[in-house]
Amino acid sequence: MFILFYGYDMKESILHYVWQQKLFNIQNLSSTEGERLEVIDVGKFNTDAGPDFFNAKIKIGLTIWAGNIEIHQNSSDWFKHHHQADKSYDTVILHVVQKADTEIFRTDGEKIPQLELTFPQEIELNYKQLLEEKKWISCADKVGDIPSIFIQSWKTFLLTERLEHKMESIHQLLHDNKQHWEEAFYSVLAQNFGFSTNALPFKNLAKSIPLSVLSKHKDQLLQLEALLFGQAGLLDENSTDTYLLSLKKEYFFLQSKYALQPLSKGQWKLLRLRPVNFPHIRIAQFAAFIHSSSKLFSKIIDHPDIAYLHSLFNAEPSAYWQNHYVFGVESPAKKKKIGTQSVNGIIINTVVPFLFCYASQKNDQALKDKVLQLLETLPVEHNSIVSGWDSLGIHARSAFDSQALIQLKKCYCDDKKCLRCRIGHKVLTISQEKFVK
Ligand code: SF4
Repeated sequence: MFILFYGYDMKESILHYVWQQKLFNIQNLSSTEGERLEVIDVGKFNTDAGPDFFNAKIKIGLTIWAGNIEIHQNSSDWFKHHHQADKSYDTVILHVVQKADTEIFRTDGEKIPQLELTFPQEIELNYKQLLEEKKWISCADKVGDIPSIFIQSWKTFLLTERLEHKMESIHQLLHDNKQHWEEAFYSVLAQNFGFSTNALPFKNLAKSIPLSVLSKHKDQLLQLEALLFGQAGLLDENSTDTYLLSLKKEYFFLQSKYALQPLSKGQWKLLRLRPVNFPHIRIAQFAAFIHSSSKLFSKIIDHPDIAYLHSLFNAEPSAYWQNHYVFGVESPAKKKKIGTQSVNGIIINTVVPFLFCYASQKNDQALKDKVLQLLETLPVEHNSIVSGWDSLGIHARSAFDSQALIQLKKCYCDDKKCLRCRIGHKVLTISQEKFVK
């Protein structure tokens, strides 16, 4: 069973692709009635109900027609899908088929012109091979033949697409936070401090205590720590540790003042984490970060450069955490600032998407360009996807490239969307072109 594309089977997917990319012999076309046919505009692919391509333009004989195109493997599919009784298909000006096995009609009985599409068989064979291939990516054996300059321009598209996808969840977050950029930014930023293991508890922690409450105490680090550790449920310990006792005292007062409901301690994960990534350390870092910054997102908009961002996220947790990883257990002294790689991760996953979203909303192209430049100055991320591409000869030079390659793997290769991929386009037409490296 082949994987469907655009909701169609393989044969129809190929026909759509060939039509959209004009991979058929565009010269000397004629309708099934023998009239000369010229394709002026193939139209726009329709992903909703109705004909397959909207707003196409063709010339049959001496008449120019503007309207929609429907594509099937056989003409008789028109009747299988009951289009002869569906008025939304009356706008079809051309039925494009692989085999014209019957005449077709509109609801009023008028005949619809048809075109039998012929195209190189290699395209279908190459696509079948891609669908059946079980390697890490379907075109693993061929991608190395694609000129790097071509892949670079595809990466730019992929990166923008990735940022646009991320914008969708930011829009939802803004909606949930009454269009308050700082609150929305704070909640996503908090998740970053949990990294993958404790992202959800951190998200819940941010939800349980609004930034507006933390901001009132931003000058008092102990109060910030008390609010965050208390809300995290991590003060629920029987210990005589002086620091823990002072946090508890502060928290009980603030909890009743703001009627706060703490989370359950059980949701935090420590198993298999390096001590430096324990939630206690991450919360202490987050508290220090809130303590040292205000109107954070506004500052970032004004200074979207890597040096400034690193200085912002360079906050040091309070002295207690220099020789503790959890409450009440001393450990050798060690500074516990957020590491450079972690800060880069925060910039890539939170700062960049938020800035891009803000720039899009304000129609600020200069800021958008700065955001893309920022990604170009950040080092490549290290993960299995980037390594996979590297082993195939597709190398990332910056976070810009690695983000684009992650998008390609996750949103195209994994779903076998090779017909929508520019590399796929090259691979499918590989026998008809001589690549120039
Ligand atoms: S989506 Fe593109 S890069 Fe991925 S396997 Fe298909 S052709 Fe190759």
